[in-house]
Amino acid sequence: MLDMKELRENAELQEAVQRTADRKGIPFNVGEWLERDEDRRNLLQQVEGLRQDRNRYSSEISKVLREGQGEQAEKLKLQVKEIQGDLAAYEDQLREIEEVWQQLAMLAPNIVSPDTPDGFSDQDNVELRTFGEKPLFGYTLKDHVELGEMHRLVDIPRGVKTAGTRSYYLTGHGALLHRAVQQLALDLLLNKGFTLLDVPLMVRTEALNHTAFFPLGQEQTIQMAEQDKWLVGTAEVPLVSYYSGETVDVSQPLKLAAASLCFRSEVGSAGRDVRGLYRVHQFAKVEQVIICEANLEVAETLHQEMTAHAEELLQLLELPYRVVAVCAGDMSQKTYKQFDIETWMPSRGAYGETHSSSNLLDFQARRSGIRYRDHEGRLRYCYTLNNTAVASPRILIPLLENHQQEDGSVLIPAALQPYMNGLARLAVS
Ligand code: AMP
Repeated sequence: MLDMKELRENAELQEAVQRTADRKGIPFNVGEWLERDEDRRNLLQQVEGLRQDRNRYSSEISKVLREGQGEQAEKLKLQVKEIQGDLAAYEDQLREIEEVWQQLAMLAPNIVSPDTPDGFSDQDNVELRTFGEKPLFGYTLKDHVELGEMHRLVDIPRGVKTAGTRSYYLTGHGALLHRAVQQLALDLLLNKGFTLLDVPLMVRTEALNHTAFFPLGQEQTIQMAEQDKWLVGTAEVPLVSYYSGETVDVSQPLKLAAASLCFRSEVGSAGRDVRGLYRVHQFAKVEQVIICEANLEVAETLHQEMTAHAEELLQLLELPYRVVAVCAGDMSQKTYKQFDIETWMPSRGAYGETHSSSNLLDFQARRSGIRYRDHEGRLRYCYTLNNTAVASPRILIPLLENHQQEDGSVLIPAALQPYMNGLARLAVS
């Protein structure tokens, strides 16, 4: 959430927010919000005025009763009754308008950083750097589904039998690889000073509102039938919510990590990425979240750092990748600045998104009520950042495809071998 007081008073901010809402495709109209804001404040004034009148008359009644002026007291009582009637009607109106005001406020997008590329979709993202050589295959390459079947790593038909479309089983070395990449990522983060949490995956609506996954994007989240509980699409939700409503010590940034399952409805993706493991309903992700002081420079440095962690992981996996600056239109409501890391996927002949690294400034902390005391003792909202460390099984696509050999065997990168009981190659039997 933005600082709505600042939005009310700052015409430049109003323009920036409207531009961002239009770019991000969010149905938020600053003018409409300002109108409702004025209605709300006018009503509030009237309600407060009536409450004061009522209190004044009530004291007056006590006074005249003490003085024995019974007739005057009765007159005043009639006036109080009239005021109470008006007050109740105005209070009802105020409640209604506050609800509309709040609903609109929840749609206001975060502004984007000055260096964010302008644009409407991922086509407008800008490549910043690449790493590694794309492999050249002098033979017909197999995609991850063929390699998965060949080495009995993945069983999609049985996944669909049990759980429907976009479902899968990982089996044998496939399941081991899935755990190996997550443990490698967790060990990397623990070495960087992150604290590991095991987090709730069924959360209240409130946690999703606070972390700005609701109300926009609600359709991506899977609800537990007849409960006020939802399955998280990312551990970012419980990691940030860990501190919701609290005043925290950010003299050192709070660095949190979790490995969790993630659940996504993937509505709106019908017909897209239907083959294999790219877009599924349930996957595992190791997530990094950082909560720090409200300082642009500090947040920028941490943003670069957490992006570098993901790059280090990909380098350990010996995978070619690129980092792109995400344009305004490809960002979600809460994001101020975003890098995506895309890893080379030979069967697609293209890079595919494997990591998303975001700086949210105080947008999420404001909704979640996460604050700290600055050097002068003032309470301020923290900044929050997040990035994938690894998401599997999507990462298995480049891992299997880039490391395949002509005979169909697959080399296991040295950094993963200790997590694979020393296995250096998936051999063809
Ligand atoms: P996000 O939290 O949407 O930024 O996604 C972070 C990462 O999770 C992506 O870069 C992917 O690697 C992975 N991911 C997201 N959605 C899916 C999905 N439906 N199926 C598989 N992996 C996914």
